[in-house]
Amino acid sequence: MSSFENLLLSVVSPVYNEEAGVDHLVTEVIAALAKRVGPWEMVVVNDGSRDGTLDKLLAWHRRDSRIKVLDLSRNFGHQRALLAGLAHASGEIIACIDGDLQDPPELIPVMLRELDERNVDVVYGVRRRRKESMAKKTAYWTAYRVMRAVMEIELPLDSGDFAVMRRPVLDAVLRMPEQSLFLRGLRAWVGFRQIPFEYDRAARFAGDAKYTWKDLFRLAYNGIFSFTKLPIRLLGLVGVGAIAISVLYALFLLAAWFGGQTFPQGFTTLVLAIIFFSGVQLVALRILGAYIHRIYDEVRARPAYLVRAFWNDTPTPS
Ligand code: UDP
Ligand code: MG
Repeated sequence: MSSFENLLLSVVSPVYNEEAGVDHLVTEVIAALAKRVGPWEMVVVNDGSRDGTLDKLLAWHRRDSRIKVLDLSRNFGHQRALLAGLAHASGEIIACIDGDLQDPPELIPVMLRELDERNVDVVYGVRRRRKESMAKKTAYWTAYRVMRAVMEIELPLDSGDFAVMRRPVLDAVLRMPEQSLFLRGLRAWVGFRQIPFEYDRAARFAGDAKYTWKDLFRLAYNGIFSFTKLPIRLLGLVGVGAIAISVLYALFLLAAWFGGQTFPQGFTTLVLAIIFFSGVQLVALRILGAYIHRIYDEVRARPAYLVRAFWNDTPTPS
């Protein structure tokens, strides 16, 4: 068995129109890994950049064959680009890092040491402080707390995709052929032994964020719909609530009627019928939703379970 230091390390980084920063990225990763004993590779994914990013990457590749370039056919978005890079990484240890130097490459060796010494399977970055606009910070903060409250998995708060992990974890993540990708959710979902690693997220090295507000909403959306039944459950709750209200209202009207109150003809039946049947319809939708969610579960074909280890030594006969 080879020791931890000698395992092949893959550093995966997606880039989109990062012409101004990509040289810095590669330089910093090389510098961060300069003291590494074991072999490493860097898989940079060019996510359909329209600027000179690819040329710069290819120049690196010609100079240093450890820098590998995966060129996607068009822009697929950060999550899919990262997934593509992960699928093309051959390391036993894998590091994911953003291409804009917001995740400091010099932390990779520190996280690797944690992975080894604490004997865990994933060390994931948790942002201590963000150097971003107040609006974006608030949006992230809220989104994570809402998601945490409604999700079926333990979503690590304020975590991004910055992480180092061992091969079995990556293989587990790659077994899930999901379209609406939320990689940090999947990474949490697979289990294994994971520990957080606090770090300060730097400001972008160059250029503007490539994630637009639309992308952020889509990401949050994917997080919610891929990991919770909450929207469907809400339908059911509102439906049951409406039915309950109609029953209470009926009792109230009955009492008022006995008390000698008069109502315009047909009014009470109409109002009651509307509230009651709206409730019934929502409950019916909830039932349909439950079936649809089951279909969704089946087509998305997540593994029913994942094994971390199997101790099955045959006992030596005494
Ligand atoms: N990125 C990508 N494809 C995209 C958008 C972004 O590969 O369609 C890359 C981008 O180059 C960067 C990383 O994903 O390396 C994170 O993007 P960004 O900095 O825009 O996101 P933020 O830090 O604002 O979450
Ligand atoms: Mg960024």
